[in-house]
Amino acid sequence: MPHNTKYVFVTGGVTSSLGKGIISASLAKLLQSQGYSVTIQKLDPYINVDPGTLNPYEHGECYVTEDGAETDLDLGHYERFLNVYTTQANNVTTGRIYQSVINKERRGEYLGKTVQVIPHITDEIKRRIKLLGTKNKFDVVITEIGGTVGDIESLPYIEAVRQLKWELGPTNSVFIHLTLVPYLSASKELKTKPTQHSVKVMLENGIQPDVLVLRTEHPLTIDVRKKVALFCNVGLEAVVESIDVSTIYEVPLLMQEEKLDEFVLRKLNLPMGKAPELKVWKQFINKLKNPKKHIKIGLIGKYVELPDAYKSITEAIIHAGVSNECKVDLVFIHSEEIVADNIAETLNDLQGILVAPGFGHRGIEGKILAAKYAREQNIPFLGICLGMQCAVIEFARNVLGYKNANSTEMVRSTPYPVIDLMEDQKGVTDKGGTMRLGAYPCRINRSSKAFEAYKTQDILERHRHRFELNNNYVEDLKKHGMIATGINLDTDLVEIVELESHPWFIGVQFHPEYKSTVINPHPLFVAFVKAALSLLK
Ligand code: GLN
Repeated sequence: MPHNTKYVFVTGGVTSSLGKGIISASLAKLLQSQGYSVTIQKLDPYINVDPGTLNPYEHGECYVTEDGAETDLDLGHYERFLNVYTTQANNVTTGRIYQSVINKERRGEYLGKTVQVIPHITDEIKRRIKLLGTKNKFDVVITEIGGTVGDIESLPYIEAVRQLKWELGPTNSVFIHLTLVPYLSASKELKTKPTQHSVKVMLENGIQPDVLVLRTEHPLTIDVRKKVALFCNVGLEAVVESIDVSTIYEVPLLMQEEKLDEFVLRKLNLPMGKAPELKVWKQFINKLKNPKKHIKIGLIGKYVELPDAYKSITEAIIHAGVSNECKVDLVFIHSEEIVADNIAETLNDLQGILVAPGFGHRGIEGKILAAKYAREQNIPFLGICLGMQCAVIEFARNVLGYKNANSTEMVRSTPYPVIDLMEDQKGVTDKGGTMRLGAYPCRINRSSKAFEAYKTQDILERHRHRFELNNNYVEDLKKHGMIATGINLDTDLVEIVELESHPWFIGVQFHPEYKSTVINPHPLFVAFVKAALSLLK
């Protein structure tokens, strides 16, 4: 018997940024906790093949999966909620769809046919949706269509899922449409017209949503719910309120109260499991809302105007805070604004300093100064990727006395290239998907802070970089107290550096933030927050 995967399609109307990713992840969490195997897929209507080439200002963080795919930040939410890895197949863009259709055309596989949006592009979209479910035998695939209905670029996706509904047959798919119910403060009223319009656009495209999830700042009155049901051709039980909450982690509980999971399972003709208790989840929220202590950690980065650029770091810090029963105020500090004259006053009330990943020379000197300040003032320090590289540059300049030491990414002709392009990156000219990406192993020294955190010697962490610590300097750094405590044994690439005579100073070439989840807060972040806590007077 072939495995019968069921499909949930999530679309959005009225405006973007309504939180389709969180609603999808929350529903997935509820289904998962009833014993179903669930995954979530994000379809992005832009033409980039993946978000790897996008500036974080455009699209927030680029999330990297275990298999090395550069993906949309929503996949981070999926992993943090479900505690299950996603892969390249979980994020499909228009660019990727067209690329495979065009490659197929070049190979002559369309046998002389005119290649068109319908059926060829829509077929490719449908193939990728179905493949994810059948290949991995998921019970339910939740497919989120990026953008807003009515956009020109999302039309082929809407058409593809419209077709799919009929191909899959009754009880095998559900359509959830997420919209906004704005509140007009002048008249003190919730307005349903945008939702009505948005459902009309869906209908014009041949899709009647089964469920409407309404984002709102104020509770929906029964009259508002009835009005939406009446005008949008759904039953009252299919009108779901999604009210603003202080933490995204509460959304699964809200969706449970609104019985979204029950409704979806009924539509899919799947039995309702035991009502999920979400015990661990509730404990997490309880601790999150009732911290025993407060600390401040500075995040030094150059995209701080847009916190989404550091989404996984922000969430990993939240998980680690909960695990230490403390609230961490993450203070975003612009690295371009840090100079020698203001460093002490900018950073002096922090219990921890985190220097963020990044590319290019903008803001780099501020990051280097922050690493210096953390080193000299014995403040717990976590440097991630470029952050680790900055710590090495700082140490080389100020402890080893290598004036103008730098990364060749910043100054190609630096006299002391302590950070240099990886050997296998030399000659790489294409920018898309060509970095060292995804999970690679690292062996940790037993006598290190990293080992204390991980409690194991062998770890697998995700990467996204082209440059590395230049092995010619490893001995020199060691002699002066900066130790390479984690190495990739296959290539000798330095993965972790630590300062011997510092309470807690760790730089990592990899990105631990991608692997922190609610159920498994990341050990490095947990240890970092713990070290920062010990600085509280
Ligand atoms: N720009 C650096 C490199 O490519 C660091 C990358 C990062 O921080 N993700 O090695």
